Amino acid sequence: MRSLGTVLGVWAHPDDETYLAGGLMALARDAGDRVVSVSVTRGEHGTTDPAAFPPDVLGARRERELAAALGVLGVEEHHVLGLEDGTLAEHDSAMGAAVLGDIIRQVEPDTIVTFGPDGITGHPDHRAVSVWVSQAWRLTRPAARLLYAAVTQSAARSAQAVDRQLGVYQRGYPVLTPQERIALELELGGDLLTRKRTALAAHESQTAAIVEVLGEERYRTWIANEAFRDARGVSSSAHAVRRPRRRARTSSRRAVAGR
Ligand SMILES: [Zn+2]
Repeated sequence: MRSLGTVLGVWAHPDDETYLAGGLMALARDAGDRVVSVSVTRGEHGTTDPAAFPPDVLGARRERELAAALGVLGVEEHHVLGLEDGTLAEHDSAMGAAVLGDIIRQVEPDTIVTFGPDGITGHPDHRAVSVWVSQAWRLTRPAARLLYAAVTQSAARSAQAVDRQLGVYQRGYPVLTPQERIALELELGGDLLTRKRTALAAHESQTAAIVEVLGEERYRTWIANEAFRDARGVSSSAHAVRRPRRRARTSSRRAVAGR
């Protein structure tokens, strides 16, 4: 992988960063590059059983899980902004862009990685983060490379059965990116895949049940692909046109919605 310089990842919930860019971050750190990861929420509503896992307890647990996962990947700098899980689309995007703009000015990244307008799964928090980061990038550091996590056609094909079994995506998702639009793609194997797997194991509250359903081999195959498209090829109006088809339930994320 060509050096990405200083990398800033901005995500919505703890575990998004590892699922979507765990291999990328590990490779960048191994190459000696600085990597900073931001999670906008603590993911405190990421449970199907809020009685057993009240938000304050789950939020604290997920912050610990995030630190452990990033430790496996070699990422020492991370920030949890602590906005309420499930509410990001309700915030003024200028506020979100201002907060992230401050971070971008401090970190001075050469490469920023985040969600594209689709938010991968369609989750409203993911889509809001995409808007905020994109606005902040344009305003504060447009010379940096902005990469959007993407789902390729071939990755979607190979993951189809698993995606359906887990119910990962909201209706109408994933939005597939044609191969020729992919700027960077990693097919993880060997030690690197094992490292990502270990980092995901640290996100136990989100991943243990999935591994139990899928089994180890299918899970490893499912997490092996990371793909990104260049934001410059994506019209800024893409953020505006893709509205949810129905009001999404934002307060009770499904157990696997972090993916
Ligand atoms: Zn998420």
